[in-house]
Amino acid sequence: VLASLSVDLDDLWSYLRVHGDPRWESLPSYLHVVVPRVLERFSVRSLSATFFLVGQDCEVAENASVLASIPRAGHEIGNHSFHHETWLHLKSLDEIRTEVRRAENAIHTATGVRPSGFRGPGYSLSRNVLRALVEAGYHFDASTFPSVIGPLARAYYLATTKLEGEERERRKALFGTWRDGLKPLAPHRLLVHGGAILELPVTTHPDFRTPFHMSYIIYVAGFSRVAALAYWRNALSACLRLGVEPSVLLHPLDFLGPEEAPNLSFFPGMGMPASRKLEILSACLDALQDRFEVVPIGRYAARVMQRPDLRSEEPKFAGVAAGGG
Ligand SMILES: [Zn+2]
Repeated sequence: VLASLSVDLDDLWSYLRVHGDPRWESLPSYLHVVVPRVLERFSVRSLSATFFLVGQDCEVAENASVLASIPRAGHEIGNHSFHHETWLHLKSLDEIRTEVRRAENAIHTATGVRPSGFRGPGYSLSRNVLRALVEAGYHFDASTFPSVIGPLARAYYLATTKLEGEERERRKALFGTWRDGLKPLAPHRLLVHGGAILELPVTTHPDFRTPFHMSYIIYVAGFSRVAALAYWRNALSACLRLGVEPSVLLHPLDFLGPEEAPNLSFFPGMGMPASRKLEILSACLDALQDRFEVVPIGRYAARVMQRPDLRSEEPKFAGVAAGGG
């Protein structure tokens, strides 16, 4: 059974920015620490993944060699927007087109790869985002997150953010609603503006629609390692039982300790040392690789596109569009 693996390469500055910390403006980065660490971990496990890169990071000269090392190690490259603004879905069509194109060009210059897959920052997605992707010839989008915890995540975010006034109001539109938990987990084609794009949701627990990406597992492991690993294995078993091919998502903070990602103590799980996170990650990847053939998302998308029973549907965006995380 197939599973797909991706890494959203969110940088230190993007978390500071979402938190309303003005120190983000100098674009502090941990990419030179985390990228070699992730590549090394994947290499010993013979894992290939899709790395979704932020265009802004690709325009920083000091990042060039470390970002170019990702495709050289055999991994795929995806587009994760230029500015990593989690309210992308609220922007106009023209603004979104610029965001997608500018990121694509920066990623191409830095890595030599022109991405054909997209994931919205904070899972932000709208009809206009899909339209911009179809126009630009993208093969897949991986921005939906069929989770029921959007309202909880928003409450946590609003309780901890330093943002005030208009900025705070704007961010209230993030994280979606509990109804997002009803969206499909299976890959499907979305019909948009006379074209179509393959949608590959980030997998949530098929029974409960609660997240099981690695940051969530690490957060739970802060209370109980046993419970976190049991939940992870249970989610994978539910995927096998229900024929869901899991799309497994990792973030840089899953690999970094508090001293390597400074000023992020507000972030869930950031009190845990890197060595402990890496041990939990390793146990989770063991369980994943025991049960599934793990491939990057683009390779998975190519397999899915050949299936005769692939569903096509119109995208639905009710009221406030999806966003968050
Ligand atoms: Zn991101």
